[in-house]
Amino acid sequence: MIDSHCHLDPGVYGGDAGVDETIARARAAGVTPILTVGSGYGFESAARALAVARRHPDVRCSVGLHPHDAKDYTEARLGELLALADAPEVLALGEMGLDFFYDSSPRDEQRHAFRAQLRAAKARNLPVIIHDRETAGETLRVLDEEGAWTTGVLYHCYTGDVAQMEAIVERGGYISIPGIVTFKNAETMREVAAAVPEERLLVETDSPFLTPVPHRGRKNEPAYVAHTLACVAGLRKTTVAALDATTTANTLRFFRWR
Ligand SMILES: [Zn+2]
Repeated sequence: MIDSHCHLDPGVYGGDAGVDETIARARAAGVTPILTVGSGYGFESAARALAVARRHPDVRCSVGLHPHDAKDYTEARLGELLALADAPEVLALGEMGLDFFYDSSPRDEQRHAFRAQLRAAKARNLPVIIHDRETAGETLRVLDEEGAWTTGVLYHCYTGDVAQMEAIVERGGYISIPGIVTFKNAETMREVAAAVPEERLLVETDSPFLTPVPHRGRKNEPAYVAHTLACVAGLRKTTVAALDATTTANTLRFFRWR
């Protein structure tokens, strides 16, 4: 199995030792490789994610500036991120995007940081991981305006409806389903998970949050992606092994895994 999106940040998992133990538990559960996302835990989380990837041959990473942290955006910082992105362990830029639900950064600063990262990804031919929350279609419009689809676009932790999913897939995008799909009130996500075309579907934990049933109340970790996979396999009326083969192949192809 594969976890296409988690945050193995030492600050969350009890330092480097805690991160390494978490990765060991994932391997023991059959979850390998793993993509850890260097974005969302402050600007410095990018360098920390790269350090984890460098320690583990079956862990790769992305680097980016989360919309929550867009208020920290400067051109110098983008330059630092891009210097990290030269490392062979970095497979993508992100997560990046817009979040008008939490509005943790002013919207114009979110827009600016998002577009700057999209342009950088395009210039470097890197795929992007998108965070999109309550933006009434603006994220999609920005991706269109920036011509971002050619290098690969993945909507992670997809919480939209089927119609928007189809608009993303039509443009060549990929959709990643998190553990929310196992929650009681996640009917729309279950509809989406059943409807995503086979070759565009990924699964993720988004650890340390959004722990799937039956582990709710505990800190999420990559080993638990098995529960999301089992739930989605049921929705798609297929076996866990068949769905795992599909989502693993899709993840490796999308990130041009190396
Ligand atoms: Zn995330």
